[in-house]
Amino acid sequence: MRWKAILGSVDKLLFPPVCLACNAPVDEAREVLCPDCRERLLLIAENYCDKCGAPLENYRCEACSQLQYVFDYARAAYIYQSPVQELVHQLKYDALRSPAAFFSQALLGIPAARRFANNFDLVTAVPLHRVRQRERGYNQSELLGRALAERLNLPFAQPVLRRVNTRSQTNLSRQARLDNLEGAFSLARKAAVAGKRIIVVDDVFTTGTTVNEVSRVLKAAGAARIAVLTATRAV
Ligand SMILES: [Zn+2]
Ligand SMILES: [Zn+2]
Repeated sequence: MRWKAILGSVDKLLFPPVCLACNAPVDEAREVLCPDCRERLLLIAENYCDKCGAPLENYRCEACSQLQYVFDYARAAYIYQSPVQELVHQLKYDALRSPAAFFSQALLGIPAARRFANNFDLVTAVPLHRVRQRERGYNQSELLGRALAERLNLPFAQPVLRRVNTRSQTNLSRQARLDNLEGAFSLARKAAVAGKRIIVVDDVFTTGTTVNEVSRVLKAAGAARIAVLTATRAV
């Protein structure tokens, strides 16, 4: 413990902590955002679609009207905008000062998430293809999933594999995203998900096609219930 504290202060001397979104100085490294950026956070608190968790205007869900979701419901903590956008970027490319704890805390803050500890059996994350994971060194969604599992006192497992190293979904239309993901996921050998109630974690919910394909594999293998929790939601 003492060594940790000493190393921590050396680290602080050499690398004074800064806001992960705007680089302004912050007091503590665990504060991922400066006060200004914290004020700009947009929490999704109320008025969202019951099924997929989209923030609603006029109580009509655009996302659900376009895609048949296989998961039972989805919820997200923050709107995908600055400064959260920058934090998601950090989550992907900086394992050292990762905002994973910040986001897993945010996932716990989603009103529906409080029920999860009692009602679910397992936490999993959207998998990366093993080649991409080797390049990056880790799977950012798995970081979130593991942190959440620990806080909920649930086991973490990765029963779904990404078989195809799909190209990035960014800038693809909904239909192109669907085509891109066709057959991309499969069940790992010996994965035991039958009858299980599963929380699927990801960093960003955009159109929902990725989490939906993962949910499809899990449901086909007999999963009883699937809740999708994402740190952020693109609107
Ligand atoms: Zn800032
Ligand atoms: Zn919806």
